[in-house]
Amino acid sequence: MSRSAHPAGPRHADVLAEGHYSAPAADLNALDEKVWARTVARDADGALTVGGIAVTRLAEEFGTPAYFLDESDFRARCRAWADAFGPDADVFYAGKAFLSRAVVRWLTQEGLNLDVCSGGELTTALDAGMPAERIAFHGNNKTVAEIERAIGAGVGRIVLDSFQEIARVAHIAQRHGKRQRVQIRVTVGVEAHTHEFIATAHEDQKFGIALADGQAAEAVRRALTLDGLELIGIHSHIGSQIFDMAGFEVSARRVVQLLAEVRDEHGVELPEIDLGGGLGIAYTSEDDPREPHEIAKALSDIVTRECEAAKLRTPRISVEPGRAIVGPTAFTLYEVGTVKPLEGLRTYVSVDGGMSDNIRTALYDAEYSVALVSRTSDAEPMLVRVVGKHCESGDIVVKDAFLPADLAPGDLIAVPATGAYCRSMASNYNHALRPPVVAVRDGEARVIVRRETEEDLLRLDVG
Ligand SMILES: *Cc1c(COP(=O)(O)O)cnc(C)c1O
Repeated sequence: MSRSAHPAGPRHADVLAEGHYSAPAADLNALDEKVWARTVARDADGALTVGGIAVTRLAEEFGTPAYFLDESDFRARCRAWADAFGPDADVFYAGKAFLSRAVVRWLTQEGLNLDVCSGGELTTALDAGMPAERIAFHGNNKTVAEIERAIGAGVGRIVLDSFQEIARVAHIAQRHGKRQRVQIRVTVGVEAHTHEFIATAHEDQKFGIALADGQAAEAVRRALTLDGLELIGIHSHIGSQIFDMAGFEVSARRVVQLLAEVRDEHGVELPEIDLGGGLGIAYTSEDDPREPHEIAKALSDIVTRECEAAKLRTPRISVEPGRAIVGPTAFTLYEVGTVKPLEGLRTYVSVDGGMSDNIRTALYDAEYSVALVSRTSDAEPMLVRVVGKHCESGDIVVKDAFLPADLAPGDLIAVPATGAYCRSMASNYNHALRPPVVAVRDGEARVIVRRETEEDLLRLDVG
């Protein structure tokens, strides 16, 4: 629900009714390790550090706003996911969360595979040396040119999203003299969000082929008959920012049912099942995400149990975490420009970025936390709304949070857990210059995506 669509009107949404900000943390200087990247700490002067470097120094060198990404945390999370699932499963990082050539190299080195869903993401992956067989190509409307390139490059799998695409990919593969490994994306009638899920018979969405009415079974039938395709499995992705494993349980059960039908009808046991991504992270202290090993155990137990019941060999499982790998590894650093107290309501804190570097609050009503990071403070907590510099009253970065009451222009504040879907969804609204991504590791900081310049803007504008 967008904030402008609040049922009681925008005014009501603005007054202290929703209670997201329940109470300030006991110590506003404390850094909750759930929401901050692993090497984040405070130095003797009270400044926040990442990879051993103080944000005050980082701001001087790289400017604000900027995203700072903890490279060792990113690599550790890749390893944790790969170790948790082990050699009999595959972890695909969902590139749409955040992709750059440096990220591709880290993934390649740490043994992960990569999901891409556009020609641009594919180019980035191949350019940075990700072996094509470790790439999966997704999307509900891949262009013919994209399919040509994916097949030509030899991607490990294409996830087929529609009946038209089954025919299209088969045709192009055949023209290339190839048999393309493919999965079919099915919609299982599970809509999962954070702490709840809804299971229905039908699914009203653009992605995938419905299990309902024998649609998915028909898609399998067609794929099995086409020479250009090698059908290796079934794919299902049920939502995002999910904490409750029950949605995956329903989804896995329905996919396994389809595998059993396929065996009964065609005598073929499809060897793979992909359960998608969508695993949640902590944006605020109230979120409690699970560790990768718990998720791996839960998913593999579900699939094993369902397959035993259906007397099927357990297929190879793959998963596609994006947010759960990159989300917690980065924070956005801003400089405070203005502080506007509204008596009895809240204080508006304007920063030098906004919806152009983090659209998630405006788009999804997302929750974030925020901290004063250039220093510590013993001042009382004040209720704040952190807003950007765009010409839009919905330009909100953090809806409700507490910052010390002595906050002043020139202070640096940081919003944690912005590694996923912030830089990748960034825009040039108001001709904003998209901020850089700076990777920090063991006392060294280096730009992996540079800040846009006004020249970049003018170069696209051909006059
Ligand atoms: C978006 C997406 C993912 C990744 O989702 P996260 O919430 O970042 O884990 C994985 N698979 C598919 C098919 C997706 O569309």
